[in-house]
Amino acid sequence: MARSEEGSSDARGISLFIYERTTPEMKIRRIEHKLGIHGSPTCELQFNNAPAELLGKRRFGLIKYTMSLMNGARLGVSAQALGISEAAYRESIKYANKRMQFKKHIKDLPAISEMLNDMSVNIQAMRSLLYETARIVDLKEGLEEKIENHPEAKADLAHDLQKYTKLASLLTPLAKLATTEMGNKICYDAIQIHGGVGYTTEFAVERLYRDIRITNIYEGTSQMQVVAAMGGIISGVIFDKLNEYENKFDFTKNQLATLFEIAHSMKSSLELAVAHVKSNSNFQDQHSRRLADMSVDVLISYLLIIDAIKSESKKEVAKSFISKALHRVRSTFDFIISQINLFNSFNSLKV
Ligand SMILES: Cc1cc2nc3c(=O)[nH]c(=O)nc-3n(C[C@H](O)[C@H](O)[C@H](O)COP(=O)(O)OP(=O)(O)OC[C@H]3O[C@@H](n4cnc5c(N)ncnc54)[C@H](O)[C@@H]3O)c2cc1C
Repeated sequence: MARSEEGSSDARGISLFIYERTTPEMKIRRIEHKLGIHGSPTCELQFNNAPAELLGKRRFGLIKYTMSLMNGARLGVSAQALGISEAAYRESIKYANKRMQFKKHIKDLPAISEMLNDMSVNIQAMRSLLYETARIVDLKEGLEEKIENHPEAKADLAHDLQKYTKLASLLTPLAKLATTEMGNKICYDAIQIHGGVGYTTEFAVERLYRDIRITNIYEGTSQMQVVAAMGGIISGVIFDKLNEYENKFDFTKNQLATLFEIAHSMKSSLELAVAHVKSNSNFQDQHSRRLADMSVDVLISYLLIIDAIKSESKKEVAKSFISKALHRVRSTFDFIISQINLFNSFNSLKV
């Protein structure tokens, strides 16, 4: 990618190019020394007046072509974060079952068992979000392929394609944000469970802690995932999806009605927060991360209840996740509203 439009400074001034590696204008700079992922060498490619050919249309390099590649990239990194988290959890369980302190296995200490339980619940929660996101991206790509092979079906499929494109644009950044941020927390706790030995290179959690750190940076930082998800949250794509789940599944089954009531109340808080944030464009930038985090909590709560409708074993996972998510959503909601009220009352004083 390179900036092709002189005088431009935004994403619409960037195009895609092909560079044929037959001339000396491209230099590979040194191999970087990194904190983690040492199995994957990273180096910078420097292009000095390198001749290149335009690929596709001008100005579409980032906003269209690269963005469409992002669905796969975000899913890949989310899966990487989930895998590292699962490894960190397994190492922690193994260690907590072996290590004795005060004549007890540390797994039986409430502080450790709560950490282990949170790890397990959050991994299952992230997996549920990742699989749902992958399913939606599959549906979107399937429709694209069908339209390419059968152009005559385009009109019939256009509505569905638009729906799944919007959903993929919302869910892929939310999944990357959630799995990579949670993965960092899980690896942090994994070292904590290991105590001092976790900080040494003798135990795998030290490497996992370093390896997970890149996942919320590359293929777009968490802050960029928030920017990418905001359109779908503000425009209501997320609520359309939650309403669709409500219509499709019987949330009163398997004694899940109370849990669903809680998840539904979290959805209402999110709706109200979005309505308040929409009242002033400054609020959107200020509270975007909070809205994205609330969206993740609400979405996962719905997905875990759906998992529990299908499988009894997921009921405890849903209960455990939702009981903590409720407090996060409530306190974030209170903070957003109090900040907006403060801003409004300050402004009315100025008038
Ligand atoms: C190991 C590794 C491998 C990589 N592999 C590749 C690769 O194969 N191909 C490739 O092209 N790149 C690759 N990268 C680059 C990587 O994708 C970028 O480093 C990453 O996207 C962040 O961009 P940046 O470093 O320019 O940070 P910056 O954009 O300078 O960000 C700095 C800080 O500002 C924040 N920020 C920036 N813009 C905004 C905004 N609009 N709103 C809110 N916050 C913002 C960021 O979140 C971050 O906290 C790799 C990097 C590493 C470390």
